[in-house]
Amino acid sequence: MRFWPWVCAVAVACGEPAPAISPKPTNLAPVPAEMKDSGVPTQPEKRGPIVVAIVVDQLSAWVAASRWPQMPTEGGFARLMREGTWVKNLRHAHAVTDTGPGHAALHTGKTPHEHGIYANELPAGDHRVSILRDESTRAIAADGTKDAPGSSASLLRAETVADRLRAAHPEALVVSISLKDRGAILPAGKHPTWALWYDSGLDQWVTSTAFGNAFPSWAQPIADKHAIEIARSVAWQPLDAPWLAAHSATKDDAPGEGDLEGLGITFPHVAKTPNAFRSLPATDRIIAELGHAAIAAEHDASKPTLLLLSFSACDVVGHVFGPDSWEAWDQLRKLDRVLGDLLKALDQRASKVSVVLAADHGNISMPEAPPPKPCGADDPWERPCVPGYRIGPKAAGDALQAAAVKALGPGAWVAGVADPYVHLTPAARALPAGKRATLDKAIRGWFATQKAVDEVIDTKVLAEKCPKVLESARTAPERAAKGEPLMSLLCRAWGPGTGAGDYYVTVKPGSFWDGELVVGKGTSHGSPYLYDRTVPLLVRAPGDAEAGIVIEDPVDFSAYAAIEAHLVGLDQRPIPEILRALTAHR
Ligand SMILES: [Zn+2]
Repeated sequence: MRFWPWVCAVAVACGEPAPAISPKPTNLAPVPAEMKDSGVPTQPEKRGPIVVAIVVDQLSAWVAASRWPQMPTEGGFARLMREGTWVKNLRHAHAVTDTGPGHAALHTGKTPHEHGIYANELPAGDHRVSILRDESTRAIAADGTKDAPGSSASLLRAETVADRLRAAHPEALVVSISLKDRGAILPAGKHPTWALWYDSGLDQWVTSTAFGNAFPSWAQPIADKHAIEIARSVAWQPLDAPWLAAHSATKDDAPGEGDLEGLGITFPHVAKTPNAFRSLPATDRIIAELGHAAIAAEHDASKPTLLLLSFSACDVVGHVFGPDSWEAWDQLRKLDRVLGDLLKALDQRASKVSVVLAADHGNISMPEAPPPKPCGADDPWERPCVPGYRIGPKAAGDALQAAAVKALGPGAWVAGVADPYVHLTPAARALPAGKRATLDKAIRGWFATQKAVDEVIDTKVLAEKCPKVLESARTAPERAAKGEPLMSLLCRAWGPGTGAGDYYVTVKPGSFWDGELVVGKGTSHGSPYLYDRTVPLLVRAPGDAEAGIVIEDPVDFSAYAAIEAHLVGLDQRPIPEILRALTAHR
């Protein structure tokens, strides 16, 4: 039995067994207002409070500020804004504005320097792998344990709120779900009840032996191979094409949009591969369905309950189509509906539903897009007035290796680029000083030809300078204000002994390391600039967070973890007091 109103409304007659995935999860008629949850609500005595901590991957403050007010009043964002507090500018304090560092920062309240997640990936031969990949673990899917490595939180050095909760209350239910391993694992930490993500190599939803020996039975109908096939077979149609045309400033086929493995650049999009599947807004709904299924199966009033959801389609859509595309508007509109439906469904199962929502990082428009108005110093997020450039990590790694061979002779010298780091090989690191200087010159020489690149910093220099820089760097809340020095941001992004690469390469404003989902297309993030570091925060906690309040001044990112901790009972300060203590003046 499924408990989602749209399943009842569209897919099957109410009361009949529902299919694992609604056949039309991405193109539904609006759910009628009078439609109630079709499932059996949890009996009142079994309902306890539920805390939902959400991350929307790649949702910048500038997108939220302009688009949330344009969402329908019955949607999730409008409801959260009406019933909660909206911090317009939650500010990350580190330079490496990527998914892993950002998720870990939100859920630990620490910067990468302290939490140890300094990048998303590492170079591995001619490709890159997740830094959370752990060869000592195995992936577990609905059909059993795989002979493929899993992922773990072994690199995470700081405690997440979820880990603190499980330490205080070992019986607590902690469920974390995302499309990405880093989006599920870093919010959860080391001891969740369940952490689930989609492994595109296996084309399956998985957990890992790092977190237990089983795949949850409640996830199987939504997350087994058959369910993935059904979800992928549905073409991505716009929810409301005239609404997209009216709201987006571009055409459906705007310059700079990428064709991800046959997905095309105009609607409808048909996903033919696991990678293309990751871009579908339908995956956001699957994540919400999984979260709801976990609560339906395991929530109990006697246990604290923390549901951690990271919605990733926003990031993939940004990387492929850019944030101004019809696709990005449609994805946000559908996520809005998913959040609204999720809130309604959880209300049936809990005595109180508290929500904290933010993003791991922001983004910038594609170089092909017209400049924003206002721009530069007049723009609150300092988006530049001139377009930037893309630089491809794969091509950069190949070119740097070629430059190194030219300078030093044959040999493997550059292991690769996993942005923002250039990783040298052990042979290069062992070179005598003179030859190492020759290699350094070759690397800097190549980067000097790249329009996207700002600075190339030897991480030995960071090792030398960062202790002093961090000693005198601003702390919360002042570090959330404008004008944070680049070195403070870099030193908070990097840490000795983290296994980070040999050079940290920063980009110019508006430029970015290409996400390479479609090489030379789409947008990305990862820079130290305000548009990448500033994200929205929403907190809805009835009787606890002030309703209908908007905070314009910048707030330190650590507010997210402090609020999450408050909501699960680990921080006694009232939410308005937490926010006041972490607000900087512009
Ligand atoms: Zn991304």
